[in-house]
Amino acid sequence: MALFDKFNKLANDRAELFPTGLSPFETRIEEVYSPTEARIGGRRVLLAGTNNYLGLTFAPECIEAAHKAVEREGTGTTGSRMANGSYGGHYALEAELGDFYRCNSVIVFSTGYLASLGLIGTLAGAQDIILLDADCHASIYDACRLSGAQIIRFRHNDVADLERRLQRLRERTENTLIVVEGLYSMLGDRAPLAEIAAVKRRHGGYLVVDEAHSLGVLGEHGRGLSEEAGVAAEVDFVLGTFSKSLGAVGGFLASNHPESEFLRYASRPYIFTASPSPSVVASTRAALQLLRNRPQLRERLWANATQLYHQLRALGYQLGPEPSPVVATLLGSRQQAVAFWQGLLERNIYVNLVLPPAAPGGYTLVRCSVSAAHTPAQIDTICEAFADLRAMLKRSDTPDSHRG
Ligand code: PMP
Repeated sequence: MALFDKFNKLANDRAELFPTGLSPFETRIEEVYSPTEARIGGRRVLLAGTNNYLGLTFAPECIEAAHKAVEREGTGTTGSRMANGSYGGHYALEAELGDFYRCNSVIVFSTGYLASLGLIGTLAGAQDIILLDADCHASIYDACRLSGAQIIRFRHNDVADLERRLQRLRERTENTLIVVEGLYSMLGDRAPLAEIAAVKRRHGGYLVVDEAHSLGVLGEHGRGLSEEAGVAAEVDFVLGTFSKSLGAVGGFLASNHPESEFLRYASRPYIFTASPSPSVVASTRAALQLLRNRPQLRERLWANATQLYHQLRALGYQLGPEPSPVVATLLGSRQQAVAFWQGLLERNIYVNLVLPPAAPGGYTLVRCSVSAAHTPAQIDTICEAFADLRAMLKRSDTPDSHRG
């Protein structure tokens, strides 16, 4: 088979699914008006699929901090921290995250994806075991593959399944990482973290929680599910991203294991890629301050999330299992999901289209992510478009009849 032949199926699938060529990959954001509005295809579109949970991408404090940093330190670091050194902002951001999480070791990575590779792919090796929730994000799967460790998946949010599998490992649990997410990125449900921490207490292992979607969203201070579930002290490693509630790009690892500092010297995704640019670091620091000082953003976010979830459910849609800023609407066939996504865009609503294998359990879905910056009227507008499209779902293929 020639090198490019492997793309034939992909090309055919795309031609069949997107005959007009309009897919999320081709969506061009022509102008961004605000955290919740942009021009797409010449029209003003309401953004309902951005992960911009706290709406901070246009916060004046973040923009000003980024401005100042770019003027003072330039547009980029042009290399990794190992080769080019660390800027003051890298250390300051790590110290501020350390203070926020009450962790004595924080390492900033260039993206959340790299943070996952940097921790899991480096800490676990061929002699080790990774027990991961089946619904974990692609970055975690890739990190597991990179590690060369034995990979064992347990059923999504099934604590008994996790316990059974951990029990079988016996004394090998001291070589085991248990990996879960705070809020799962596709269905928006929480991990049963208190129970998972109890299982870890009984059998051993090290617990990793990817708080990508829960930082700034869950917990009294916005630290995530570890805080909300009251088990922060039992979480060995927190992974996070700057690309969602903090409105920038980058990622981090926070831990109270002093040995995790050695990851700076051992982690290829830390050593062999350029460090975050000064403006990104500066806006992230400003966003973290806002996240800490403005709990009302979290309250607004949850009011919007709850409104959207309940209104969509009242329309008869099958949603993820609990109200959450990630609102997944489960659909039928892939064609139907594509038509639904396009239908929303025609009605000037932008959401995320998720097809298998990106969606867990064989689901097809469209995912809304709610922002504190949405107004209640905008949430109503989103729901009106969904109401308009309800008739499009044929009786035989209603969401309720579909479980992939
Ligand atoms: N973990 C989860 C659960 C995610 O959803 C994402 C991004 N979608 C990442 C990690 C990667 O984050 P980043 O965008 O910073 O690479």
